[in-house]
Amino acid sequence: MTKTKSFMKSWIETPSGSDFSLENIPFGIIEYQGRRGVATRIGDTVVRLSVLAHHGFLGFLTGDQLQVFEAPELNPFIGLGKAVTREVRLRLQELFREGNSALQSRADVCRQAFIPVREAVMRMPVRIGDYTDFYSSIEHATNVGKMFRDPANALLPNWRHLPVGYHGRASSIVLSGTPIHRPKGQTRPADEGPVVFGPTKQLDFELEMAFITNGSTPLGSSIPVEKAEDYIFGLVIFNDLSARDIQRWEYVPLGPFLSKSFGSIISPWVITLEALEPFRIDGPTQTPEPLPYLRQSEPANFDIQLEVALQASGCRPQSICKSNFGFLYWSMAQQLAHQTVAGCNIQVGDLYASGTISGSEPDSYGSMLELCWKGTRPLKLPDGSERTFLLDGDSVIIKAYAEKQGLRIGFGECETTILPALP
Ligand code: CA
Repeated sequence: MTKTKSFMKSWIETPSGSDFSLENIPFGIIEYQGRRGVATRIGDTVVRLSVLAHHGFLGFLTGDQLQVFEAPELNPFIGLGKAVTREVRLRLQELFREGNSALQSRADVCRQAFIPVREAVMRMPVRIGDYTDFYSSIEHATNVGKMFRDPANALLPNWRHLPVGYHGRASSIVLSGTPIHRPKGQTRPADEGPVVFGPTKQLDFELEMAFITNGSTPLGSSIPVEKAEDYIFGLVIFNDLSARDIQRWEYVPLGPFLSKSFGSIISPWVITLEALEPFRIDGPTQTPEPLPYLRQSEPANFDIQLEVALQASGCRPQSICKSNFGFLYWSMAQQLAHQTVAGCNIQVGDLYASGTISGSEPDSYGSMLELCWKGTRPLKLPDGSERTFLLDGDSVIIKAYAEKQGLRIGFGECETTILPALP
């Protein structure tokens, strides 16, 4: 049974069960009267931080630091570092807290700063410099290995020793709500048959989360695993759309290329690591024990529930997958330590995706490829139609939230609709 604790209350109306409780305080970018700026959200109210800064409510920041809220992306704010961004989050919590009238009594400021969420136009939160996609779910890697290689040796020999990943394409990462055209490419439908060109016939989603870095490091340096979280600002939901038939033909020997670079979608609000702290858990036992540079002594996973819904055109959304960020074999800290161990520098606003997050049960698989087991187990939708991969007009909606004992920290949703291939 769930016990309900009493948590901080806000004088700003917050519907019960809202992802955006007073404990959350996410950061994002809105466009308002033709200008972009930094915002947070509480309940169904979006708050423009430049207005609060202008009126002295973030007075502990210096002149230059106050400018970051007027930037069209979060990078300058994030780049102030965790000591400052943490302070801003705590200050906002304090201002919004029931019983604190400092902001509440300033109706003039509230009128300028507060926007109902239905009227807020969200924009890409971050200018993403570099993007890495990991492959850190043992269940996903095992499923894919079973389907495409050898069921008896599904995991390749390196998998339990290092967080496998590849450098992806940052330019095609877009905001939730952006539709994506079905990609075209080369495939070889039959093993020894002809190579053909055309729209993918195996369009898939990948249920992932991604973290965003807040610092820059010099080339040649590396980030120790025990310090890695200091460089992680927060997380978003990530849908790494994939064309399986194109992927299968092109990926040898250097890995995915065009099959993964035609559109990946992120959710608009970045949820900070601090907000997720109450949901820290141990990850799966790692066997064999990782090499010392990847070894962790403290819990480094987070219990975040994930849900995917598929919505055919004109139908209601149907839940097709329930998974959990905590299933990941390799933690974010291990991913970042590994990313930098050879001397690769990182920058403010880099994005590191987890890889598809599957659980052990068939309804927790984080892609159509696995849910329908390579096309052999079709999903039934409410309109009676079946799917083994995504069709034109289908929407994929991913939700993520952490919840326990009445405390809820949510990410909102990450949505995209598939459009027909362009001529
Ligand atoms: Ca992926």
